Amino acid sequence: MRPKRRLGQNFLVGAGYPERIVAAVSPGADEPIIEIGPGEGALTALLLARGARVTAIEIDDHLIPGLHRLFGNNPRFALVNGDALDIDFCRIFPQEGKVRVVANLPYYISTPLLQRLIAHRHCISEMTLMLQREVVDRIIADPGGRDYGYLTVLVSFYCEASRLFDVPPGAFRPVPKVTSSVVRLRPLANPAVAVRDEDLFLSLTRTLFAQRRKTIHNNLRAGAAALGLGTTADLPAVLSSAGAGIDGHRRAETLSLRDLASLAEAIHQRGQTDE
Ligand code: SAM
Repeated sequence: MRPKRRLGQNFLVGAGYPERIVAAVSPGADEPIIEIGPGEGALTALLLARGARVTAIEIDDHLIPGLHRLFGNNPRFALVNGDALDIDFCRIFPQEGKVRVVANLPYYISTPLLQRLIAHRHCISEMTLMLQREVVDRIIADPGGRDYGYLTVLVSFYCEASRLFDVPPGAFRPVPKVTSSVVRLRPLANPAVAVRDEDLFLSLTRTLFAQRRKTIHNNLRAGAAALGLGTTADLPAVLSSAGAGIDGHRRAETLSLRDLASLAEAIHQRGQTDE
């Protein structure tokens, strides 16, 4: 069957990289694992061979018969024919507490899928994900560079992230144009910096990175209403009251998580005093 580009189908071929990925996960016997996008089963087969219990979520109806043929007789295998963006990950192994997720993700939806996985972090202990290398660069970026942005802040607010290794285009069929990287994300027990309003912290971050080339002050002014600041808010006062004080002429990419948290707290407090 011809792989479908619109579903991000670049299948791993050969044993080397699937083995490296599954060795990095190193599932225990009977360990429940959720796999997103099993495709032709390159990772599924190795996870099952190590004794894991695998529930795989595959959107493409045409791949389902092949997966049933390969693994249908294995009592540790279950298949959900559906869209991972609609799945409640916490209901797959409801008795198990936290489970691990493994995926060679379809790159066309990697950001919304990451957001969804993070939203379900309370029942996920670890994610081992293959992504486009550029996306992993953004996830693990330090403040100050062009890769640092909303995705960096979102992931590092909720997870510890580490790049495991790169995977060259030649490891897939069809051969993609980009290099891939495997990243490991471990949800933190508590967000990396303390804030009283996590939604405000995230919408502030989204607002500040809306136009990367603009200053913090200008992005804040453009997004003031969404942050509950009102169009007449004294932004310099809000900025200077944030922790050590933040210069509004800077760009958002220079703000650490701690800076963003201080600013979110300043906006939160302002909301409290305005009430
Ligand atoms: N795991 C296989 C491998 O490594 O060879 C396939 C990986 S391929 C990059 C991505 C897989 O995700 C494809 O099988 C594709 O059909 C599936 N997929 C794409 N969008 C999906 C979605 N929204 N939900 C679940 N699976 C999806």
